Parts: sequence; C-alpha cells; structure tokens
Amino acid sequence: MNDPRDLLRAYLRQRQELGEEELVLDRLSPSELHALLSNTPAPLAAAAAPAIDRSRPADRAPAAPPMDRVSEHAPAVERASAGLERVDAAPPPPFPGEPETHVRAGAPVPGTTDAPPSPRAPAAYVSAEEISSLPVLAQVREIALGCPRCGLANTRKHVVFGEGRETADVMVVGEAPGQEEDRSGRPFVGRAGKLLDLLLLSSGFSRDDVYICNVLKCRPPQNRNPQPDEVDACSPYLLRQVELVQPRVILAFGAFAAQTLLGTDITIGKLRGKTHKYRGVPLVPTYHPAACLRHPAWVRSVWEDLQRARDVLDAA
Ligand code: SF4
Repeated sequence: MNDPRDLLRAYLRQRQELGEEELVLDRLSPSELHALLSNTPAPLAAAAAPAIDRSRPADRAPAAPPMDRVSEHAPAVERASAGLERVDAAPPPPFPGEPETHVRAGAPVPGTTDAPPSPRAPAAYVSAEEISSLPVLAQVREIALGCPRCGLANTRKHVVFGEGRETADVMVVGEAPGQEEDRSGRPFVGRAGKLLDLLLLSSGFSRDDVYICNVLKCRPPQNRNPQPDEVDACSPYLLRQVELVQPRVILAFGAFAAQTLLGTDITIGKLRGKTHKYRGVPLVPTYHPAACLRHPAWVRSVWEDLQRARDVLDAA
C-alpha cells in the first residue's frame, strides 16, 4: 500500500469503522477531497510512503510571495498566505451543492493519554525554571492547563497544550490555537487540521505517529498575531515539550512557528526548502495548511518539505 491515495482511503475507512459518523473532514467536501487526491502533482500521487520506523533508540508550485513584499494593507487572504496574519480568521466557504464528507481529524490519538482538557481558571504562577525541570509531559501539561503566565489566560476557553505520541520521531509545531482549537482544547482541528492529516498521510506519516503542538498554547483574541511577551511567557512549555519528546525532526508549519523557533524574521518563502536546526534538532519549515487551503498550489511545496523531513528521518 505505497500509493498515498490507498493510505488515505484506508484512513477514511478506519475512521468510519471506529464509528465516526460525524464529519470526518468537517467542511472538506468530496470535491475538495477528490481534488486533493487526484489533482496533486505527479510526485505526490506517485510517491511511495514508507511506514515510520518506531523502533528508535531509547529513545514548486508558484513561489510564495515573500512576506516583506506584502503590504500590511494587502487583502487579508494575501497577508495570511504570506504568513503575516493568522490564517484561520476567515475560513473559505465549503463547496456548494455537495454533501459533506464525514471524516473527523483531531480525534483522540491512539496510544496516548491525551484527552480534551476541561476549562480551568488560571492557577498559581510557575516559573520557567520549574517548568524546565518537570520530568514528564503529563506534569508540564497539568501546569499549562492552569497557566497564568500571560494575558491570554484571561480570554482563552481552553489551553491547547498539544497531543500525540510522546516518543514521536516527528514533532509538528504550529502558531497558536484558533477558534476551533480554543473551543475543543485540541491542536489542528477544523479544515486546516484535516488538510494537515492528509498531507502527513500522503508522506507516510500519520497523526498517530507525530506529536502536535503550537508555539502559543492559548488563542490570541480575534486570532491576532501573537505578541513577543506572550511568546516569551509561553516558550518554556514548548522547549520542555521538545526536550521530553526528543523528536528527530521538527516540522514548523507557517511563518510564525518557523521564525519563532529559528529566531529570525526571514520570510517563510525563503526559509522553506532547507533543513535548519532548533537546539540541535533538524527543523523543516513549510507553509501552514490553512495557507494551502487558499493557495492549493502550495500543497506541492509542503509535500516536498515533508519529503525532506522523511529524508532527514531516514538518514538519522
Ligand atoms: S499562552 Fe502560554 S504563557 Fe500565555 S497563558 Fe497560555 S499557556 Fe500561559
């Protein structure tokens, strides 16, 4: 079963067999799914997708417009696509006249202890030093769920800590929770999450194999860009997640995640296409799935970046 379309079909079948009768793909319609599966570039449709080796020791589509060429006053879609603006603020409408496909992404991940958190009032302040000494992810998560370290604690519904395989070889890092994530307490749900799942699957990864989190654990109001003080306050959590998961490769989705992790303001269009390092861990930057929903041609670039991540893993 090397054709990624077979993997996708198997994935959808599995979700149905698990009794998921609600939208497996939310508002991703059959025509969108069909387009994803059949209109993707030849390498995507033809590529082999080897299974992930979990036995680790103890662990070009049209070029993206550079962010610096996109005016602050450009249309929201253009700004979002260039990574200047949160891309989940205005989801594109579903295709008209077709029933919705019932596939749910962001479902609980088998083999993990993650469950949707209950909303909590901010608890006591815990220092970065204390967070950095917590020995297991469950404890870091427990502290984060009541975190009062920045002002977003006053506006969030849920802390979206992250979820997935705690010994994953691949860590996916996005920007911050959007509305759906804030509501559910889970990262990468909604349309962008569904596309992320498909992109991962088409490259031989699956949601069950990766650990997924964001730079910020709480949603900025109206999906505004994260502020530097918020990033500073939240960074101890991400750092400890990386230290404890010990991924072999980090996939940074979107300009904000890539720029934050790499400490640069270089545009995502220039960062992607290469392998970088975050604290010694290979880091592959790529476009955010939500940007791909608006610029389908970028799917190919993301897929190429995922192949780079695959190569990094295979060489490790
Ligand atoms: S964004 Fe991070 S630092 Fe701010 S309150 Fe949420 S968990 Fe704490």
